[in-house]
Amino acid sequence: MYETMFELHAELLKALAHPRRLEIIRLLRDKPLCVSDIYEMLDLPQANISQHLMVLRDAGIVTCERNGKQIIYCLADANIVKATDLLRNVLIERHRGSELAEHLALSMQELTPVVHDPVCGMRLSPCTANFSADFHGRQFYFCASGCLKKFKTKPEAYVN
Ligand SMILES: [Zn+2]
Repeated sequence: MYETMFELHAELLKALAHPRRLEIIRLLRDKPLCVSDIYEMLDLPQANISQHLMVLRDAGIVTCERNGKQIIYCLADANIVKATDLLRNVLIERHRGSELAEHLALSMQELTPVVHDPVCGMRLSPCTANFSADFHGRQFYFCASGCLKKFKTKPEAYVN
């Protein structure tokens, strides 16, 4: 039993231990997303994203349900967000005083969405958005690298 406990713990951490999977968890912390939204938001091939989602699902970190044609993903347990936030706190402590620590700390603040990602429409807070771009003197914010990349290839398509 003693051994099993540590093994189970390690299994769970293994499922978390990938930058893209942590990014998916961050995207899901505010609201459930359909799989096509997740494809839009991440700058990765769909097969790759599906694989990450499968790892998270197998580990019981996310759950999914079918809604008509869509598959909706959400976090299975709010404690996952707490756990990733705590680990981020370790990084903040470690890099205290540096710009990186400020950035890490900023993105942990409560999200108070005030702008929309022009590509996917997600509500974001400018102070916590990880990606931004300037277009004709206006600042735009993005949920993730995929949306930023799309915007940069054809900004005029997303700006009214
Ligand atoms: Zn987006």
